[in-house]
Order: sequence, then structure tokens, then C-alpha cells
Amino acid sequence: MAVNILAFGPNGSGKGTQGAIVKDKYNMDHIESGAIFREHIKGGTELGKKAKEFIERGDLVPDEITIPMVLETLAKSKEKGWLLDGFPRSLAQAEALDKALKEAGMALNYIMEIVLDREIAKERIMGRRLCANDNNHPNHIAFDAIKPVEKDGKLVCRVCGGELSARADDQDVDAINKRHDIYYDTKTGTMAAVNYFKAGSAKVISVDGSKSIKEVTNAILAELD
Ligand code: AMP
Repeated sequence: MAVNILAFGPNGSGKGTQGAIVKDKYNMDHIESGAIFREHIKGGTELGKKAKEFIERGDLVPDEITIPMVLETLAKSKEKGWLLDGFPRSLAQAEALDKALKEAGMALNYIMEIVLDREIAKERIMGRRLCANDNNHPNHIAFDAIKPVEKDGKLVCRVCGGELSARADDQDVDAINKRHDIYYDTKTGTMAAVNYFKAGSAKVISVDGSKSIKEVTNAILAELD
């Protein structure tokens, strides 16, 4: 049976880094809503054009664009299993996802939550870098374990030597604050979605994201079957 996981954690908590490791354990698809949007923007699609302004401001892309996009992607990964990162980000998205999973007969096996203080998350966001070849290649200028390497006087991806860039919304303090306001909102935001799914039947794995990358990985892997 395919394994399905929901990954939660504020922007900057290391969710992408840990998600890439967990995805390899199960050979499942890693579905990142933010990365799907960035691909659309890069490719100049209609969806990308609509989403761009919201992303640059750190606002949520409207549900009528986001929800069908993510649900269609999930449906394609039914056989292989998936780790979903970046969705749901609100209570409304959580309810839509729950309903769609039930209709599709997809079970949710784990809720993975990386807990991290808002100030630490903010500091971490600004130092992360995106690899042009693979967004699963983690690079961060402040962490020895995933520090980019220098080549011809330039910092390049430590995994593949690819070109690195910083996301514009990671360098904009207003956009970071907005994203965190949404994440830590327990009424209708992402924490409301976390609590919604925590109350369900999936196994909850909640880890302290302030620890080293290796320690967080070990804490997660110890809980997975
Ligand atoms: P991320 O890469 O997860 O930080 O996402 C980058 C941006 O994409 C977010 O700040 C939102 O503008 C947009 N986005 C990603 N996931 C969602 C979602 N589930 N709902 C609405 N907007 C999203």
C-alpha cells in the first residue's frame, strides 16, 4: 500500500530538507505546492501569471487556483504515494483535502510537524538558496551540513554544482512576516489545518526543528514504520 504523508512546519523550519529525505525512504512523490507555482511562473503559464503577484507579496494564492492544482497532482500520485508539503495552509484547504482524500479512497498515514519558533524560522529563511537543477537539493549559507560550495568565486549547489538563487519572497521581510502570520494562525490558518488533521486517525510525528538537521532527521525516521 502506498504511504501518504502531510508535512507541516513554518517557512524556514527545514520541512523541504527533511521531506526530501523521507520521500527517498518510501520512494514516494514529493509534492510541494510552492514549487509547482514556481515552475508555472518559470514556464510563463496562465496559472503562473495569475499566481505570481500573490506569491511575491507572501499572500496565499486564491483557493480556486490552488486547490484544484494540488488535488490534480495528488491524484496522479495515488499508486506511488506522496509527501505533501505546503498544502493545506488554511482550515478551508484542510477541509477540501480531507473530503477529496475520502472521495478518492486515499488514506493518510502520517502527519509530520516540524515545530519551530517564529523568530528562528525568520532568520533561517533569509539564508536558504534554491538550486536551479533540483529544488530537493538543500543549500543554506548558515548551516555547515548544507553549505553551498565555492566555484570560480561563486557559491554553487553543494549537491550538483548547479546555479543558486535566493527566492525574492525569502528576502522580503514583509512577505516573510505575512507567510508566518498565516502559518501560526490557529483560527483559520495553517495551525488550524495542523490541528484539524492531528485530530484524525493518521499517526502524528511532531519534532523540534531547532535541533541539527541530522537530529531532526533521526527523530522523524525513528517514528516512521
Ligand atoms: P512555499 O514555497 O511553500 O513557501 O510557497 C511559496 C508561495 O506559494 C506562498 O507564499 C504562497 O503565495 C504560494 N502557495 C504555496 N502553497 C500554497 C497554498 N497551499 N495555498 C495558497 N498559496 C500557496
